[in-house]
Amino acid sequence: MVRIDIISVLPQLIESPFNASIIKRAIEKKIVEIHFHDLKDYSTSKRKQIDDYQFGGGSGMVIMIEPIKKCIDSLKKKRDYKEVIYMTPDAEILNQKTANKLSIEGNLIILCGHYKGVDQRVRDKLITMEISIGDYVLSGGELPAAVLCDSIIRLIPGVLGDETSALTDSFQDGILAPPVYTRPAKFENTNVPKILLSGNKKKIEEWREDKAIERTKKIRPNFFN
Ligand code: SAH
Repeated sequence: MVRIDIISVLPQLIESPFNASIIKRAIEKKIVEIHFHDLKDYSTSKRKQIDDYQFGGGSGMVIMIEPIKKCIDSLKKKRDYKEVIYMTPDAEILNQKTANKLSIEGNLIILCGHYKGVDQRVRDKLITMEISIGDYVLSGGELPAAVLCDSIIRLIPGVLGDETSALTDSFQDGILAPPVYTRPAKFENTNVPKILLSGNKKKIEEWREDKAIERTKKIRPNFFN
């Protein structure tokens, strides 16, 4: 079983995506185990302080290294981890290749920042991998961590009911997914493409591939460079 430990100053911000749908099923099937850690529980000060002002001045609080180190050390003492990941906007952007890679590796620690982020020494000393979910800034790393976990967990064998369904999603073979349709076959003035109702598996496959390529050329032409 893969174990993911998520460290945050606001763990309640992240719990709900794990309580429904595919991720919940993966947890119930004991394919993955998720644990949340509140940084305040690892504070080394009496006032449960976990952040402080920036050296050099400037607005915004910075999360201190001591509680983070204490939390990571206590986890590492109990088991091995493949990566200690920090969610941060100034990192390489998450893509399907990274999700695939992390889904076949072992246990992960994911650190969520808040405020101005974490003391640089955390990143230099304790973190083995940094991931952004896109070129925009959010208030905390909790939503990015949930995005990362979802992208990884759905790829672990046994999580999705239909084993092949993750393979036919966008990005898996370098192109976007083709359009999909369901009932009714006729809705107002629009009909489902006839080929999909033909029962001819080979022709349907060809049509899907053509549509996927057409869509990719239009929306993500850079995939063909
Ligand atoms: N001062 C930082 C931003 C801090 S945002 C900077 O300018 O780069 C506060 C926290 O939210 C970060 O520590 C990080 O954990 C999280 N975060 C914000 N945007 C993110 C993104 N696009 N991807 C991943 N994490 C993000």
